[in-house]
Amino acid sequence: MLVKERPINLLGYINKKTIKGEKLGYRTGILYLAPAELAIQAGSNATACPFASDECKALCLFTAGFGVYNRIKVARMRKTDYVMGGRLWNEMPNSEAIETLKKNLKSLTNRCKKDKMMPCVRLNGTSDYPVHTWGLMKLFPNIMFYDYTKDFNRMADWINHLLPLNYHLTFSFSGHNWLQCELVLRHGGNVAIVFAKKIPKKYKGYTVVDGDKSDLRFLDRKNVIVGLLPKGKAKRNLDSKFIIKEHL
Ligand code: SF4
Repeated sequence: MLVKERPINLLGYINKKTIKGEKLGYRTGILYLAPAELAIQAGSNATACPFASDECKALCLFTAGFGVYNRIKVARMRKTDYVMGGRLWNEMPNSEAIETLKKNLKSLTNRCKKDKMMPCVRLNGTSDYPVHTWGLMKLFPNIMFYDYTKDFNRMADWINHLLPLNYHLTFSFSGHNWLQCELVLRHGGNVAIVFAKKIPKKYKGYTVVDGDKSDLRFLDRKNVIVGLLPKGKAKRNLDSKFIIKEHL
């Protein structure tokens, strides 16, 4: 367990893709928590990603961008302890962290109103919690929440319109869940896939859009594959099953 700390701001605003979104009029705040079993090291009672594959854990974006810096990793571990310390994956976060998040979301809404921007939030920047159960989406109907997930049941609920209207989900290829990816694509959802060197126009008959142009997944058309290029450690591990090479 890490030393307890009370972070004032749980959301991060700057990464290469959110800057692209700002140019389109959208400001995105992202909650970066420790992924998979690192969440346990940080103080949680369970993995943050029960549907992760060994391959995606090895190449997780936790190590990309500012995540390469040790002080950033430590700050994210502390945030994880603050939010999910002593909790299981599907339990509500610590109530104090929820209050902090509410303050952060209110401040994002106010700043966006002032700057005439659309507020967006990803609560699973590098985790896969059932964040739609945290009660925040209903409280902030003007914020567009969006995430990537490997939780097939959550994705099915989203496809069946059972999740809040201001929550958008994109399913993620793990290296081992292609059958689930096809089901999602056939029923109107989108699937994010990492491609080794270039993003193809089509993959297995499905249209592929360039997901690196921005991170605003809720603007994507339906029934498409969202193609992403490798980032962080993934750039040096192109032979992983998590990364598709068949199109090269
Ligand atoms: S499920 Fe996503 S956040 Fe979790 S380890 Fe895999 S890539 Fe990282």
